[in-house]
Amino acid sequence: MNFGYTPEQEALRREVNAFIAEHVTPEVLHDKEAQDDQMHGSGVADPFGPNMRELYGKLQARGWLGIAYPKEYGGQGGDRISQYIVEEAFMRVGLNISLSGSGAPAIMAAGTEEQKRYYIPRLISREITFALGFTEPHAGADLANIRCRATRDGDHFVINGQKIYTTSGHLSSHIYLMARTDPSLPKREGLSIFIFPMDTPGITVRPLWSIQNNPRAPLGTTYGEARTNETFFDNVRVHESTLLGGENKGWKVAADGLNLDRVGAFRYVMSIRRDEDMVNWVKTTELEGYADNPAIRDKVAELWIEAQVCRLMTMRSMSIVQRGRDFTYEGSAEKVWAPEHGVRTTEAITQMLGPYGQLLRGSPHAVEEGVFAHNVLGAFQSGVNHGGVTIMRDQVARRGLGLPAMRRPKAAAN
Ligand SMILES: Cc1cc2nc3c(=O)[nH]c(=O)nc-3n(C[C@H](O)[C@H](O)[C@H](O)COP(=O)(O)OP(=O)(O)OC[C@H]3O[C@@H](n4cnc5c(N)ncnc54)[C@H](O)[C@@H]3O)c2cc1C
Repeated sequence: MNFGYTPEQEALRREVNAFIAEHVTPEVLHDKEAQDDQMHGSGVADPFGPNMRELYGKLQARGWLGIAYPKEYGGQGGDRISQYIVEEAFMRVGLNISLSGSGAPAIMAAGTEEQKRYYIPRLISREITFALGFTEPHAGADLANIRCRATRDGDHFVINGQKIYTTSGHLSSHIYLMARTDPSLPKREGLSIFIFPMDTPGITVRPLWSIQNNPRAPLGTTYGEARTNETFFDNVRVHESTLLGGENKGWKVAADGLNLDRVGAFRYVMSIRRDEDMVNWVKTTELEGYADNPAIRDKVAELWIEAQVCRLMTMRSMSIVQRGRDFTYEGSAEKVWAPEHGVRTTEAITQMLGPYGQLLRGSPHAVEEGVFAHNVLGAFQSGVNHGGVTIMRDQVARRGLGLPAMRRPKAAAN
């Protein structure tokens, strides 16, 4: 494998960085902060401010959104590495412009021609954004136990039930929902995915507040939402054309889609930004006993090496997707390594900083406005959401290593 960039990709990288230096202005970053404020519950349903919208317009005009998506669906028909180059550069300044987690990979993999033509261009331009409606109060890691019910009524379905942790549900235009369409089938076989607008009558969204952004984390904090939601479906009526991948085919659509959603710069850059924060702090602090402390030097070097493993895992995933090979467990493996590396890094820096490193934003004694303490909270959170690490390990064991599915241990004989 050669993970070096071609001369064209290298030129793109330079062009993108020059663009960011010119166009990612304090006004754009202010919009980003205002977006985070909306997460804090002002209730304004536009996740973009005017400067951010203008920036997206410029990115679209340059063909930098959805580079790897086919031209007929609003993309550029380009290569995945070029898309990664653009995503990585923006992630480094705290702007996630990637389509990872957007639902686009799942629609490309399982959607009808009509769904691809409708959704992909609008997801690329961010006219449409999805909230993910999988988890329920009694079904998270054990997702196959979901109870939210979609009952057929002619060529429509009527949906009733509750979802929890529907992050961005209050900001998204659409929902990507898993519901039970046939309770008589084995648990995983009676599920379907539906994609439809959030303003469909019968949907209620209520806030659930997270710990990482309370008080609000400073700009530059990696990961973590201020707010997620509970979403209720009360006789929500949707047409059968909102099914993604067919009736009772939801388990495979969801598993493949989530795995593909994990390919991209997002997770690796999150990890490496934490490492960079730590290395920069150790290098620049005026406090004595840091940069020349052998134990600290050893630790930052060890964590830096781990971050490079994250990068290689990401590049491998992209290489597989780009060559159209089977992508089975690699996203899950990355989803174990990157969050756990994040926990190790954020804990290491707070151990180095001592008690002051645990103070959150707002305390006069917080280090760097509390960024390190907020990062610790986010690191633990990222090991749970989008598939917890224990479940990801099980997927690596089964899909990657061919081990049989876990059986409940037999009760011990008396
Ligand atoms: C901030 C945040 C945002 C989220 N956003 C969304 C979203 O937008 N949409 C959505 O649908 N969901 C979302 N989630 C939900 C997330 O996917 C679930 O929290 C996750 O799947 C775990 O489910 P649970 O919380 O019910 O925990 P549980 O299922 O109760 O699991 C608790 C712990 O036990 C472990 N565990 C459970 N079963 C097993 C097992 N059989 N073997 C080994 N270990 C096991 C889990 O890995 C976990 O560590 C979000 C969660 C968080 C924290």
